[in-house]
Amino acid sequence: MTNKDLANVIFPNITKTIDDYEKEYPKRDLPDGAIVSRFAPSPTGFIHLGGLFQALIDYTIAKESKGVFYLRNEDTDKSREVDGAAELIMHVLNHYGLTPDEYEFDGKTVGNYGPYIQSERKEIYHTFIKHLIEIGRAYPCFCDKEELDLMRENQETMKIRTGYHGRFARCSRLSIEEAIKKIKNGEKYVIRFRSNGNFDNKFEFDDLRQGKLYLNENDIDEVIMKSENMLPTYHFAHVVDDHLMRTTHVVRGEEWLSSAPKHIQMFEAFGFKAPKYIHTPLIMKKEGNSLRKISKRKDPEARMSYYEELGYPAIAVIESLMTIINSNYEEWHRDNPDKKFTDFKFSADKMSTSGALYDLMKLEDISKNIISKMTKDELYDESLSWANVYSESLKKLIEKDPEYYKNIINIERVQEKPRKDIGKYSDIENLIWYMYDDVFNQKEIEYEWKNITDTDEIKRILDTYMSKYVDLSDKEKWFNNIKMMCDELGYASNMKDYKKNPENYKGNVADISTVLRVALTSKSMTPDLFEIMSLFGIDRINERFSKIK
Ligand code: GLU
Repeated sequence: MTNKDLANVIFPNITKTIDDYEKEYPKRDLPDGAIVSRFAPSPTGFIHLGGLFQALIDYTIAKESKGVFYLRNEDTDKSREVDGAAELIMHVLNHYGLTPDEYEFDGKTVGNYGPYIQSERKEIYHTFIKHLIEIGRAYPCFCDKEELDLMRENQETMKIRTGYHGRFARCSRLSIEEAIKKIKNGEKYVIRFRSNGNFDNKFEFDDLRQGKLYLNENDIDEVIMKSENMLPTYHFAHVVDDHLMRTTHVVRGEEWLSSAPKHIQMFEAFGFKAPKYIHTPLIMKKEGNSLRKISKRKDPEARMSYYEELGYPAIAVIESLMTIINSNYEEWHRDNPDKKFTDFKFSADKMSTSGALYDLMKLEDISKNIISKMTKDELYDESLSWANVYSESLKKLIEKDPEYYKNIINIERVQEKPRKDIGKYSDIENLIWYMYDDVFNQKEIEYEWKNITDTDEIKRILDTYMSKYVDLSDKEKWFNNIKMMCDELGYASNMKDYKKNPENYKGNVADISTVLRVALTSKSMTPDLFEIMSLFGIDRINERFSKIK
């Protein structure tokens, strides 16, 4: 009996060969240096910051090199699959503008290298496993969980490296006849790769981020096909898929680096060229004075839904990630403010070798900047689409009078240094609510009076203003009138005079403006008062002032 017989007993229905697949998925016809990258999440739940970080690198290196970026759904672990996760992944990629060139979604396949969903690639995996069995590089293993646990315990007591290697790889020594007999008896089995490595040997591994590393050869006979569903493990699917889909660069989390020796060995067993690897660092955050890994469980900012719910513009999140992807990104962006992030030349060796520090304050700054540069129409569109999903109350305000809303958000927008008070769309309502009479009238208002707190004095100022000085025809007149009122009421209209002899005055023009501002809005800090007053108009100002009792 030969390995071929064993292979036929295990896969009687597989008639294709690995060469058939080589022909079916030929080398891609792309310009020299074009990178083929992929994002390969498992549909096990939320998409995390670390995932988007990887997808962003994938996207950038593919686009910048005129290559291909594709999405592969790694759904071989059916027990961990979560409903709706695949939809969420596609949604997040689209939301951040990282739409893949090739994918399979919602019954539609785009691209010639699919299926792009692993559970639909069973026949392909089986063909490749069958080949390995035929050439003696894979075998069925019948050890059950108890046996493997016992083996591990023994290894631990003997202080031997754990795992199915060397003399511990018991089933590697079964004869073909014994193996076939067990299979025919219905014994459960997995398929293991037959390693030919020696753990004491080191080999050179070039990680594009970390440079040359010296890793131990793999000597573990890794499981490549599970017994339930006969689906492959990650290790095997990675090798077959990235080869057949002609991936040139694998960007994946640092946690896979220790498995790289296995993968390299499997590529070699098939005679395939392994792709280049970029193992990405963990994403860290600052806590007090120390750094720690962003935790999927503890930190809300680990989930991508956090950013959408709060209403950060997608490009702000992208920019904030780009700054931690490459240390020279910020400088490049400053020098090339009009270029897209995809024009940036990513270099893996400029990635941090330790963790990548993600800073929410920085995101907030980047975002304020981006929002401040939007036109009122852009901000209107963006904030309304956000409100449509996340804020019924803002949506109502906007829809009540879109033009009025646009005018409000346009205050201090069209100027050389536009106002930067909106960090995210969820900030807006809290910055503009006082511009709406029905909201204002329903609220328990707390007036933020400053230097002038005496109600009689406040009323005197407001009455005098409304009876003699209110003028909204232009900003200069408006301000001159306030100054004139200062003179009449014993306040300094000129700050210099005031500073010289404060004892000569009851206060100054800033105190007076504050009274007008607070009486109108309840806030001591607002954007330009003239613009606010102009939007109110005299009647509404009067009505607001009359509320001060
Ligand atoms: N499905 C694997 C994961 O989610 C992908 C790793 C890789 O990109 O190769 O960790």
